[in-house]
Amino acid sequence: MSNKTQEILEQYRNSLMPTYAPSVVIASGKGVTVRDVDGLVLYDFTSGIGVHNVGHCHPKVVQAIQDQAAKLTHSSNLFANEPATQLAARLVGLSGLGGKVFFANSGAEANEAAIKLARRWGAQNGGRYEIVTFRNGFHGRTLATVAATAQSWCQEGYDPLPVGFAYADYNDLESVKAALTDKTVAVMVEAVQGEGGVTPATDEFMKGLRALCDERNLLLICDEVQSGMGRTGTWFAWQGYDVKPDLFTLAKSIADGIPMGALVSNERLADVFTTSTHASTFGGNPVAAAAALAVIDVIEEEDLLRRAVEVGALFREALQSFVDKYDQLLEVRGKGLMIGLVVDGDPKAVVDALKEQGILALTAGGNVVRFLPPLVLKEEDLEEATDMISDALDSIFGE
Ligand SMILES: *Cc1c(COP(=O)(O)O)cnc(C)c1O
Repeated sequence: MSNKTQEILEQYRNSLMPTYAPSVVIASGKGVTVRDVDGLVLYDFTSGIGVHNVGHCHPKVVQAIQDQAAKLTHSSNLFANEPATQLAARLVGLSGLGGKVFFANSGAEANEAAIKLARRWGAQNGGRYEIVTFRNGFHGRTLATVAATAQSWCQEGYDPLPVGFAYADYNDLESVKAALTDKTVAVMVEAVQGEGGVTPATDEFMKGLRALCDERNLLLICDEVQSGMGRTGTWFAWQGYDVKPDLFTLAKSIADGIPMGALVSNERLADVFTTSTHASTFGGNPVAAAAALAVIDVIEEEDLLRRAVEVGALFREALQSFVDKYDQLLEVRGKGLMIGLVVDGDPKAVVDALKEQGILALTAGGNVVRFLPPLVLKEEDLEEATDMISDALDSIFGE
């Protein structure tokens, strides 16, 4: 670590609450790489935690942000703005659900909106409010979304948490049935659990959840904050399962790094929130919305849904060869370019070794190395990265 990095990290530690412990200071990004403040270039296979699906500083997105920033940066929701209005219509179109959109500023807030909408609907439909969520799921860090996140590391020290959540086991329909009460109003699920360990739902489970929700008059809510916007090879991961949710949420990758969250409903729930029943000062910010419109254009023009499937398959194949080689690696799983490498031990050691070789990656779920590279990743970059991953694994697992 050279001087500039040291200097900034020292100031960081003196000035920021230690909720994170970074060791890299990023100065700029371009496509699939970032440059640190000392000029070191690294592959960003975190995409800023699933944010840069179209890569860092895509020229079309940069242009859209610059143009909109020079025109109007905020309107408040007392007055409409054109980019947010267009974006809502496009998201509804991509979803095929025929509903409407509420805009927020983050994933946690989009999920809060989903929880509130479900409760409001439940209040009008039998006085129900309880939402079933899943162990190893992740829904955010506000109090309600922490209560929805059935993981103790997230909840410890924050009692009393909001009530109204019950937990079930992922990919286990019987455990969902066991969690239902006469107060249950909804089931909230990630089609691919991200933070919890990059675990895809089985086909049977997602179809079973939909059938169960129909049978018991419950809402099916999909949290697409990490898996959405093409990451798994479809616009939204639920589209890969041939089921339709009643509500789903987006954030991370929606506006390529400009903070934005969105709740999308189906037709039936489009008008459950009425005037003044929910709100956000910044929600639907025109700069964020302009960036999101550009993101959608880029995904379409560059065929990134197909790329996520194809490059994802190549990447998983390469990782599988390492699983075959090293006893310390157990399994490759995921969908599209949302990929987990399961380790027998602490994944942090692998992530550190990858960083030494020049690749940024993430951990997930206690024993998983998580790769979320930009969907614009080219075959030649993947090949180079694979060699670097090979060297990193050899440095820690080789004889
Ligand atoms: C990151 C994440 C969230 C929280 O999003 P924030 O923008 O950090 O509030 C919620 N759900 C899932 C599935 C996530 O991956």
